[in-house]
Amino acid sequence: MVTTRVADPPAHDDATQPATRAAIWRALAGVVDPEIPTVSIVELGIVRDVARSNGAWVVTVTPTYSGCPAARIIEADIRAAIASAIGEDVRVVTALAPAWTTDWIAPEGRQKLRDAGIAPPHAAMHDGSTQPRSVTFRRPREAVRCPNCGSLRTTELARFGSTACKAQYRCTDCLEPFDFFKPH
Ligand SMILES: [Zn+2]
Repeated sequence: MVTTRVADPPAHDDATQPATRAAIWRALAGVVDPEIPTVSIVELGIVRDVARSNGAWVVTVTPTYSGCPAARIIEADIRAAIASAIGEDVRVVTALAPAWTTDWIAPEGRQKLRDAGIAPPHAAMHDGSTQPRSVTFRRPREAVRCPNCGSLRTTELARFGSTACKAQYRCTDCLEPFDFFKPH
């Protein structure tokens, strides 16, 4: 017996709702990481994907740290922001692989970190080679630029700053203390 069903919706109907998809991205752009409230989760590169799957919107995120206590808050904020934007609950999926790296921070995000007085991580910590990151030798530590005056004469005061993601530094020239977003 053959049944012909002409009105079957496709399993992935992303392309059918571009306006809703855009509204979701706009809502996401208003959600911040509670640890870095000046930069949106989109600019931090935490949002990996927005997809329509089996009749529901699914947002895939990769937290900056696995086990980061902020992850639960971010998930709740994402669902609330999107629910108020499109009037629909979404599913938030956490993808731990590939792991988030500071390379995913968008250029606007880096600028906002600087504006907030946080030195953004160096862009080129990973050389793109297939070499595993758990190599036994250590790279020479790169100089951290002061977000206040641009000097490279800075010293680390504490390995952990206001949160575990940041180290505390002080500028030798302008004497301003600042947070450095640790690359990983
Ligand atoms: Zn300075």
